[in-house]
Amino acid sequence: MDKIQTECTRCGTCCANGGPALHVQDKELIEGGAIPISHLITIRKGELVHNPVSNRLQVAKNELIKINGVGKEWSCFYFEPEQKLCTIYDSRPVACQMLECWDTEAVEQMIDKDLLSRTDLIGDDDPLYQAVLEHESTFPCPDLELLLTRGVGDKSRELEEAANREVAFRTELVSSQDLSLGEELFYFGRPLFHLLISVGASVKESAGRLLIDWPRK
Ligand code: SF4
Ligand code: SF4
Repeated sequence: MDKIQTECTRCGTCCANGGPALHVQDKELIEGGAIPISHLITIRKGELVHNPVSNRLQVAKNELIKINGVGKEWSCFYFEPEQKLCTIYDSRPVACQMLECWDTEAVEQMIDKDLLSRTDLIGDDDPLYQAVLEHESTFPCPDLELLLTRGVGDKSRELEEAANREVAFRTELVSSQDLSLGEELFYFGRPLFHLLISVGASVKESAGRLLIDWPRK
């Protein structure tokens, strides 16, 4: 008979499956420098996100701040795969502390509760505070679930235009504020055209413009 698991064997599977979302209890890890914002990524409201409990993609009901991923599997940035170690174990986020893969009740209780957002981490005196708000109101995440299930319909040109304007918006700020890629992904999340690729669009560049094609439905 298989032995019933009652404790973490440190197999690393959860860490290899991606970094956690951060909660208000983790704020001091960022403010104290244990986790710099350049190691975070913003998942904007409406993006499709992997639910570790159901192991399915679902629409993010709220903004999430996650530890960035690396590699094809998008393993947690702080996971050291050879030794299966967390390189910030003593400063790991609360979701990692609560995760018991053999009994997910505690971590399920945390989903969608007390989540950190960008405005919890950057004060209104941050030079990028207004830019984050403007980006969110001008380029909200489109209805990706609808695009995935019903196709682009008559929105193709509108989305292509928005994707081009969004790239121009972030490029200007990356340049003027000298942002690293990690910082850009924290402040503005993934570019709009990446989100469109995630629901089937193909993107190419021609004469400095993104051209976006959609599969026929
Ligand atoms: S919580 Fe589970 S999946 Fe994660 S390291 Fe421990 S045993 Fe592995
Ligand atoms: S922070 Fe550490 S414990 Fe949490 S997912 Fe990353 S590597 Fe694993």
